[in-house]
Amino acid sequence: MCGIVGIVDAGGVSIQLYYALYALQHRGQESAGISTFDGTNLHKFKGNGLVADVFSPSVLSDLHGTAGIGHVRYPTTGANLPENIQPLNFQFKEHFISLAHNGNLVNTCEIRAEYEQAGQIFTTTTDTEVIAKILMDEIGRSGCVEDAVRICMRRLLGSYSVVMMFDGIIYAFRDPLGIKPFCIGKTENGYMVASESVAVDALSAKFLRDVKPGELIRIDSEGIRCTQVAVAGKRAHCIFEYIYFARADAIIDGVLVYDVRRQIGHKLFEEDPVRADSVCSVPDSGTAYAIGYAEGSGIPFVESLMKNRYMGRTFIMPTQKEREKAVRIKLNPIPAHLKNKSVVLVDDSIVRGTTSKRIIEMMREAGAREVHMRIGSPAIKAPCYLGVDMPTREELIASDKIEDEVRHSITATTLHHISLDALVEAIGFEREDLCTGCLTGCYPLPIDGEQARPCKVDFLDSTFQSRLGSFEA
Ligand code: 5GP
Ligand code: MG
Repeated sequence: MCGIVGIVDAGGVSIQLYYALYALQHRGQESAGISTFDGTNLHKFKGNGLVADVFSPSVLSDLHGTAGIGHVRYPTTGANLPENIQPLNFQFKEHFISLAHNGNLVNTCEIRAEYEQAGQIFTTTTDTEVIAKILMDEIGRSGCVEDAVRICMRRLLGSYSVVMMFDGIIYAFRDPLGIKPFCIGKTENGYMVASESVAVDALSAKFLRDVKPGELIRIDSEGIRCTQVAVAGKRAHCIFEYIYFARADAIIDGVLVYDVRRQIGHKLFEEDPVRADSVCSVPDSGTAYAIGYAEGSGIPFVESLMKNRYMGRTFIMPTQKEREKAVRIKLNPIPAHLKNKSVVLVDDSIVRGTTSKRIIEMMREAGAREVHMRIGSPAIKAPCYLGVDMPTREELIASDKIEDEVRHSITATTLHHISLDALVEAIGFEREDLCTGCLTGCYPLPIDGEQARPCKVDFLDSTFQSRLGSFEA
């Protein structure tokens, strides 16, 4: 969970990077950073907090240059330490390098240990620095950035959408399974890459297409070049991007997230119809689902929980205690809409179960007679190792409970989760092309102690684009 952006634009990039990060704020609220290159020097600024709090007009006016990258962070690998804030910046053989990463590697420890064994030091606890190390190692050897990326991609196992600025050139690459989203846009005087199309929209830039899984994009002042570095036997787009993580107006790998959620709302009614007075969403993440449910069922959509729009996602609070407190501040029930009513309450997912339990309690206190909980994802059974903060089975309420036990524990009148089949159908990809690790406990990459269904990845030769060995991803 993170948002990244890279822009090369003759008209200057700092303001555009700022707006792009602003549009990607939902992908991480812990820290934000921007690095730019002005032809001679690297300019950088980063800090903890929201984009709007980290950057001021005067800070932005000092970020000179026509190339730059940015990052918003929610930590997965690497603690909340100031040195872990991205982009990471390096100086190497007179070159300025800046790197930002969305995703999570599953072989960080091995690679890091190897380097440490060779006497190398690390200054952060992120997996991003491991990527940087491999790249610098190879650039040092061959002097060719693109070859370094090729070699790097062979070594990395996990999810990664990476943007690297090498002096004034932006390199962007996406893991061969395309786990995390990444797309390309055309700005007024250049090109950009970003985690979600909403960042392209925010700049009134033109959405071109997604970065293909296994693809390397190079952007400089002359234009853009795309090279296929690796080809996998399947894709493994993160299903949770569609369920929760991406903004509803994003188009990810060709699919409008809003439509997926709305369609699931319809299917939630078809799978387990219920009579009720109103349909209410847990805003904002449940809203598109609730609208679909209301359409499908004919039950009126009535907002009965008001969200305070001026606070971050409660989940973003890193500790359980903070999360519990924050629910109350974030959502306020409307008693006049709830008194003696039977309500269908729609949300995208139940992770730890704290939010749902708290909300149902509040709705009952406000007079609701029945609360029928409908969830836009199947039960979350297993942790995510590939970039979403779903840490351990112990913390996942559904990991060891059947649906009725979860219902009991969150005190809902009834509870239904969408089936995996219906979810996959709504997204429109083959099931094999989605990472469903958190729902099924079966992952698209080998992970210690977990089940996996990996596929073969072929790496293409740089000059001839022919096969040059392969490995089992
Ligand atoms: P729970 O209390 O069950 O752990 O939280 C469920 C709520 O958290 C849902 O409303 C859902 O929208 C939200 N949620 C689910 N996954 C994530 C996540 O990875 N990050 C954040 N910020 N919120 C999440
Ligand atoms: Mg939510």
